[in-house]
Amino acid sequence: MIRFGPAGIPIETPGERSTVAGIEYCGKIGLGAMEVEFVHGVNMGEEKARAAGEIAQKSNVLLSCHAPYYINCCAKEPAKISASVKYIVATAQAAWWLQASPIVIHPGHYMGRPAAECKKLVNSTFQRCLDEMETLGVIGVLLGAELTGKKSAYGSLDEIIGLSEDFGLKQVMPVVDFAHYHAREARLKTFEDYSRILGKVESHLGSKAAKSFHCHFSGIEIIDAGERSHLPISVNSPPFEPLARAFAENGWEGRVICESPLIEKDALEMQKAYQKIAKQG
Ligand SMILES: [Zn+2]
Repeated sequence: MIRFGPAGIPIETPGERSTVAGIEYCGKIGLGAMEVEFVHGVNMGEEKARAAGEIAQKSNVLLSCHAPYYINCCAKEPAKISASVKYIVATAQAAWWLQASPIVIHPGHYMGRPAAECKKLVNSTFQRCLDEMETLGVIGVLLGAELTGKKSAYGSLDEIIGLSEDFGLKQVMPVVDFAHYHAREARLKTFEDYSRILGKVESHLGSKAAKSFHCHFSGIEIIDAGERSHLPISVNSPPFEPLARAFAENGWEGRVICESPLIEKDALEMQKAYQKIAKQG
């Protein structure tokens, strides 16, 4: 089974736009997931987070979180690395209270350096985060290394799979953003295009990766540097339907978070398309 949900509080959440109200609304309209966005900072205290986590349990909505955008795990300056550790650990702490996992992270930026040099730094920064999380008793919250949309950013498909391989799936999971892949690596069109990605994830990380997959989907506008902006799925670039078939035919389970501007409407559209295909078996 694949669950679908919005990246953030649904647009049409009635009343006050709070995380709790957003989770309840997801449950009401039949979505089984939601990503809590801390992209501009972690601004949720323990009491609020624990309450939201309980509502999510009751509503059968699985939560994940998105860490701040301004993280750079392979920054040249040690102070920037330390700040990144601080933001990631703060996101993980909130996720722990929310009973959410994974926390999605844009790993970093090459800044003109070879990928191998960045890899060493990203790995040591992730290790620092995991050590601090353990000290805080934040256990079971996975770091989700996102496939990034700009060619200047660390986080190709191979790089995020590599991170997960280095730490193991119990600590770091790949978060494939298909729109980003479409923008930075190769255009996605067919069932085979998607199956190749899923096959690569499974061959490196094992069948467990196919049972707790976490990914992002939306349409995307592309420029030479990679992504420009996320678009509604109706642009069909990349198309969702062949991915839904790849999930269904290979028996994948997990969550698809919708990052289109129509976060909940398109999540519902994708869910409908997926369920139709899964039913046809
Ligand atoms: Zn992201």
